[in-house]
Amino acid sequence: MSIHDGNESEAAARVAFFGLGNMGGPMAANLAKAGYAVQAFDLSGPACDRAAAQGVAIALSAGKAVEGADVVISMLPAGCHVESLYLGDEGRDGLLGMVSSTTLIVDSSTISTASALRVADAARKAGLSMIDAPVSGGTGGAVAGTLTFMVGGAKADVERARPILECMGKNVFHAGEAGAGQAAKICNNMLLGILMIGTSEALALGKACGLDQGVLSEIMRLSSGGNWALEKYNPVPGVMAHAPASKEYTGGFGTDLMLKDLGLAVEAAQGAGAITPLGGLARQIYAMHSKSGSGGLDFSSVIRQFE
Ligand code: NAD
Repeated sequence: MSIHDGNESEAAARVAFFGLGNMGGPMAANLAKAGYAVQAFDLSGPACDRAAAQGVAIALSAGKAVEGADVVISMLPAGCHVESLYLGDEGRDGLLGMVSSTTLIVDSSTISTASALRVADAARKAGLSMIDAPVSGGTGGAVAGTLTFMVGGAKADVERARPILECMGKNVFHAGEAGAGQAAKICNNMLLGILMIGTSEALALGKACGLDQGVLSEIMRLSSGGNWALEKYNPVPGVMAHAPASKEYTGGFGTDLMLKDLGLAVEAAQGAGAITPLGGLARQIYAMHSKSGSGGLDFSSVIRQFE
């Protein structure tokens, strides 16, 4: 539970944790369970109450949370929240001006690489170490402590963060320099969004042709069309008992969050001059699905667009 090597008698590392939502709440709880001295902060009272019930200590303000912190972790909705937390806004100081020079900063939110680089650059200018460490694995992975971290930043900082990240996840990949973690996350989620649409389209075609969708799912899962959606997250209700589709598309990864990630992918492609026609089309299809009133449902409900 120390982030410093080789000193067994050291006190538990102090972690300031920001954002106790669907992901951050269970992540902070896992750190507290592992013995870290966690001081957490969220703007939402109910989110704080849920985390406190899981053994997480709640700080009265952002400034109080970072007092004496060895590590700061943030798990916020979007880039605007991350930038305002660290850089400050409307006359409010950002965290970069409040932490000590030895504090390691870890942002695990999914945000654009441009936004991640703005904050990383400001941290570097302030003499602070920062990594971007977005995650994959969903709310189930956050609770079980089996997330995958995709990390961007200096190797020494990634290694310093590794023990703490391993209390919340089972895979920690160093993707490259600052911003590389966000770039990897965006590539993965663009592929996931496209795969779910392709799988839904094929299953809807099968239904229209009179096939049983459970049988067709099994045929494709074990044939050349096999993919993660067919393995773990079938979009047809009743085919997989544990999938969001069988729980009225609740408890998973929201359509609007997938829409945000595909927006980030399109933005990254434009910035980098990459060609991502299917990513662009997938974004339109999820936008249409969200507009039809399904923004809050799990993203696998996109199959309804084809039925
Ligand atoms: P959420 O909306 O459930 O939680 C976000 C929390 O941040 C809220 O409780 C909110 O009150 C808090 N917050 C906002 N601004 C704050 C501030 N300045 N200080 C303190 N707290 C603040 O979101 P989530 O589902 O936990 O997702 C968080 C991030 O993780 C997003 O970037 C999302 O894209 C990413 N993500 C989500 C999933 C998933 O399955 N939900 C999976 C992987 C990655």
